[in-house]
Amino acid sequence: MNRREWLSTIGAMVPALAAAPRAAREPAAQTPGVLELKDFQPRSMLTVPATRVPRAKFPVIDFHTHLGFSAKGVAGVPHGEERRFAAPASELLPVMDRVNLQTMVNLTGGVGKGLQESIARFQTAHPGRFITFTEPRYAELTQPKFSQQQADEIERAGALGARGVKVLKTLGLYLREQVTSGPLVKIDDRRFDPMWEACAAQAMPVAIHISDPEAFFLPIDRFNERFEELNAHPDWSFHGKDFPTTKELFEARNRVFARHPKTTFVALHVGNKAEDLGYVAECLDKFPNMHVEIGARIGELGRQPRASRRFFDRYQDRILFGTDAVPYGKQTPQQIFGEELYAIYFRFLETEDEYFDYAPAPVPPQGRWQIYGLGLPDPILRKVYAGNATRVLRL
Ligand SMILES: [Zn+2]
Repeated sequence: MNRREWLSTIGAMVPALAAAPRAAREPAAQTPGVLELKDFQPRSMLTVPATRVPRAKFPVIDFHTHLGFSAKGVAGVPHGEERRFAAPASELLPVMDRVNLQTMVNLTGGVGKGLQESIARFQTAHPGRFITFTEPRYAELTQPKFSQQQADEIERAGALGARGVKVLKTLGLYLREQVTSGPLVKIDDRRFDPMWEACAAQAMPVAIHISDPEAFFLPIDRFNERFEELNAHPDWSFHGKDFPTTKELFEARNRVFARHPKTTFVALHVGNKAEDLGYVAECLDKFPNMHVEIGARIGELGRQPRASRRFFDRYQDRILFGTDAVPYGKQTPQQIFGEELYAIYFRFLETEDEYFDYAPAPVPPQGRWQIYGLGLPDPILRKVYAGNATRVLRL
């Protein structure tokens, strides 16, 4: 095509373009009109370092995993001794070896025969690789001698090989006076005092989950930053009904910490207040028997990397590594046990990478944001990965 022909072509096109409606002139835009939030999966256009960390720099103890669950639960309260296991040890060990995971702490080891089975399957069969915690027998709360029986039960569990006690959010949010009905039982109910003391006497730390993310106590509406998560799991909402406020829950928990100074408490999920590290710091300063664990909260820590970095510097002796990993836990992508999950945690702790996913999922499952790595120095990494847990668990 010569210049004249080209000019005449353009000349012929101009009036046609001017007359065409706007959409016809922009065929590449493919404006879909309305895009539903669930279908929105934006890809970041940032060009920044992306470090693969498939293996932790130092051996790791994962203080927060679930390898089994109570087979029967009623209204959030486990019943009976029967357990369901998520995966056999033989499936977990190769992954553990590849990612440098020395030990998994199975917090939900259960009670009685179920506890014995948990211990036999993992801890006894593979010494040093698995540790088992026991749980309270809440279903027996209405029995007149519950208090002392529960304390004795802790002692028995310790003799069987349980290394600690797990307290689920059942306490404070599900457990009621008649177990599944009546008013909610307070976290600092005096009936549990002998149990907390037995934990101290047996040198068994308490892994305690109290309350839940702040957003779970707010209406599930367009202002809720975890709307999609709550919309997918409406039963996770503690808004309304007779649920206490998070403030009431934390205050009751703190009274337990204060009343049992010899008992070691590990407040799971950064004390379930990772949105407010100032408050967690205040509690850590007030209660020397309190530690925190980071499971399922790197989404919170990683979106405030500067505050988090200062928090890790200051409380480096009291932060434990944990993931809340569940083998095949497809319901919660941020917790699916596997190499992908650990690589994200290691990347968050070890690198200064910017703006990356906190969970192996196409859409961030706990809120639509990305995280930033902390780039912790080796001495802090060693403590968080295993040193602090080794001390707490008296290994
Ligand atoms: Zn958990």
